[in-house]
Amino acid sequence: MAADMRAGLAVDGGSDLKMILSYVDTFPTGNEKGLFYALDLGGTNFRVLRVQLGGKDERVIATEFEQVTIPQELMFGTSEELFDFIACGLANFAKKEGGKFHLPSGRKREIGFTFSFPVKQTSIDSGILMKWTKGFAVSGTAGRDVVACLNEAMERQGLDMQVSALVNDTVGTLAGARYWDDDVMVAVILGTGTNACYVERTDVIPKLQGQMSSSGRTIISTEWGAFSNGLPLTEFDRDMDAASINPGEQIFEKTISGMYLGEIVRRVLLKMAEAGALFGKYVPEKLSTPFILRTPDLCAMQQDNSDHLDAVGAILYDVTGVKSDLSVRKMVVEVCDTIVKRGGRLAGAGIVGILQKMEEDSKGLIFGKRTVVAMDGGLYENYPQYRRYLKEAVTELLGLEMSKNVVIEHSKDGSGIGAALLAASNSKY
Ligand code: ADP
Ligand code: MG
Repeated sequence: MAADMRAGLAVDGGSDLKMILSYVDTFPTGNEKGLFYALDLGGTNFRVLRVQLGGKDERVIATEFEQVTIPQELMFGTSEELFDFIACGLANFAKKEGGKFHLPSGRKREIGFTFSFPVKQTSIDSGILMKWTKGFAVSGTAGRDVVACLNEAMERQGLDMQVSALVNDTVGTLAGARYWDDDVMVAVILGTGTNACYVERTDVIPKLQGQMSSSGRTIISTEWGAFSNGLPLTEFDRDMDAASINPGEQIFEKTISGMYLGEIVRRVLLKMAEAGALFGKYVPEKLSTPFILRTPDLCAMQQDNSDHLDAVGAILYDVTGVKSDLSVRKMVVEVCDTIVKRGGRLAGAGIVGILQKMEEDSKGLIFGKRTVVAMDGGLYENYPQYRRYLKEAVTELLGLEMSKNVVIEHSKDGSGIGAALLAASNSKY
């Protein structure tokens, strides 16, 4: 991981890891004031948020947010359809503004736009989509400035707002967490997909070709979901990858993130069923349906503490149409645990890779004092076993002594506030 990070910092295209420049080289100070919006296009949901910032003393005066599930068909539609849907959701949300939220007259509402796909930023408020990930195959966006796409859709909706910052969700999370805690150096998202960003020294980024920021630092989005170097893969990983809409890409993401864990388990269970190891000779047809078993199902099965694993039985019945006995249920839970353990441990190993790279360049920066890794995303947030395996791997790899200085902390929805804060610190006014 560390070697791939260096290769990606050296030249564009030098590594699986794109090591994207975020154009964020100063952090929120706490002095930010006013009304700001954030818009977050993830993989499963899109969220809109508004925040009234009160500066040093009052900090966050009020926030409101709404979440909308992205309709499946929009993931395979046209760029206009997707961005119209987003602009429409934003317009509806903006209509309900009131109460504690105030915009000085003569100003447009400013947006921090969180866009959780690989974007080649060209400035803090523009960036070109390199490719869709996480099952999206929207036509007409790749190669375009996603801020322009949103602006055009807002115009079509008659919505008079402007994007002041385009941020990756990891960058938003880092900025949001750093608003409260100066020791935050890394942010990791584990949701539908996965990515990590961190604070880098500009003098160790050869591809900047000497363009230093005044702070001497900048946030780099690693795009670590694309990591693949030396990952131990199984036939289940390879088959799932081959059947995916982006074969050969996002291999780390496909082994550790929420979109895929359930599908890997399904493939293992199908093979077991075909070998007669689950339901005798019977192979349930439903079990051949890709993605029928979802990661939240694994999670629910692993939380089942009942004597007969009733919840496991119910989910298995849903997914296979078969009534299972206790020994089968136990086996299924063990498969879930195995896949989730591997995912959590690999994610933890990735975090250690980033920390070690940072420490190598600046002795004492990471392990010589308290360092916070801000975590977010639906998988991390909701799956206690995954979280535990991740933390165990970090402790195991760093050793007890060194890992004492590393705090892995959930920063809930930090990315929304973070994006709004970055809109504030990059305000046009
Ligand atoms: P995104 O921003 O990419 O849409 P989120 O951070 O909202 O993603 O996370 C959604 C993902 O989190 C889902 O796709 C799912 O994989 C995972 N997830 C959600 N709820 C649970 C749960 N209860 N247990 C395990 N994973 C979950
Ligand atoms: Mg997200």
